[in-house]
Amino acid sequence: MTTTRFAPSPTGRLHVGNIRTALHNWMLARQAGGTFILRIDDTDAERSREEYVDAIRADLAWLGLDWDREERQSARLERYEAAFAALQTAGRIYPCYETAQELDVKRKIQLSRGLPPIYDRAALALSDAERAVREAEGIAPHWRFRLDHAEPIVWEDGIRGTQKFDAAQLSDPVIRRADGSWLYMMPSAVDDIDMGVTQVLRGEDHVSNTAVQIQIFTALHAADFAADTGAAKNLPAFAHEALLVGREGKLSKRLGSLGCDAFRERGIEPEAIIALLARLGTSHPVEPIADRAALTSSFDLASFGRAPAKFDEEDLERLNAAIVHQLPFETVAARLPHGMDAAGWHAIRPNLAHVGEAGEWWRLVTGPIECPSFPDEDREFLAEAARLLTWSEDPWGTLTAGLKDATGRKGRALFLPLRQALTGMDHGPDMGDLVPLIGEVETRARLARAAS
Ligand code: GLU
Repeated sequence: MTTTRFAPSPTGRLHVGNIRTALHNWMLARQAGGTFILRIDDTDAERSREEYVDAIRADLAWLGLDWDREERQSARLERYEAAFAALQTAGRIYPCYETAQELDVKRKIQLSRGLPPIYDRAALALSDAERAVREAEGIAPHWRFRLDHAEPIVWEDGIRGTQKFDAAQLSDPVIRRADGSWLYMMPSAVDDIDMGVTQVLRGEDHVSNTAVQIQIFTALHAADFAADTGAAKNLPAFAHEALLVGREGKLSKRLGSLGCDAFRERGIEPEAIIALLARLGTSHPVEPIADRAALTSSFDLASFGRAPAKFDEEDLERLNAAIVHQLPFETVAARLPHGMDAAGWHAIRPNLAHVGEAGEWWRLVTGPIECPSFPDEDREFLAEAARLLTWSEDPWGTLTAGLKDATGRKGRALFLPLRQALTGMDHGPDMGDLVPLIGEVETRARLARAAS
């Protein structure tokens, strides 16, 4: 049974990068008929805000990314305590007493010598007596997880292929602060175990976290941590996608602030965002596919490339227009001008880049329109049109065929004065669709007015 999760920290609004991760995890779950978990990573009490939790839920709902289960890390502190105890018993956790400044100095010295800034495990070497001295001085320790340097870390990444890490090239991660609060690293692994997560799909900025977390998973399993919950001792499958960058190919500040509110304000449909983000960075072409089931079934980690995915706002606009042209009346009805029915929507839809523009075009039907003044020969032609107008299934087709015969006009000379007389514009929706909506009385009146 496939279980995925989207694990935002509620310290801000979702941006395109987060939305993409959420979407891909949602698709993996839906494709397999599995479970998609929304996990709120709110162990950082100071920076987490309830209003962001609400905004995350609202944004996911607007995007149509429904979740089967919601979890919050702040409600699971007992489990982290239990995991910590299990790792401590297994000898995988040790107290550290360095201040942030001391650690900073160590890092700078290493860097100045051309060495990687890996934690030197000074605290691991302390004797019981040395620790006792620090405790007596009232220094509260923070805690590190001891990586196993003997075990190479290897996994088959769903996107990056075989990944190998030498644990000795990584710092033992701090997993708990001196005030007892948790850092991201361990709770995430504990949750993935407890919640039966089978696939972890996230950005490549998490690759080295995965290396560390694999050792945390393995240590917890070895300590029989999840025996009470009956969770299997399998590691999740990991996949890390290349990051999203701006059109220029750089990580852009703008992308970090571009979220659902901005899209909504610009009249971008959720389906356009979904269609773009589902395929950006993959070998599948980005196409205006409004059918989410089709996008979901074609979603495939193997199609992802290793190069950063370029997010182009102009692509999104183009995709949006093409998606709007497909939207069914029921989807947009609540956002349309009063009186605009399904026939009206179908007539006007091909002219829209955004649903919000429907009102401007609908005015061509309801009027009043601004009628240009015509040269004499066009006025005669339009008078002839008013005489020939009959009402049928296809009044426009009948009228233009009759006028062509009667006047010998064709092409632009035939169609343009009629369009101008009936809509006041040189371009716009298909006249065959529009004229029945304008109605017989008004069509006749507009032709007569233009001819006079
Ligand atoms: N809260 C973490 C983040 O937003 C979750 C990362 C993960 O998927 O494990 O980066």
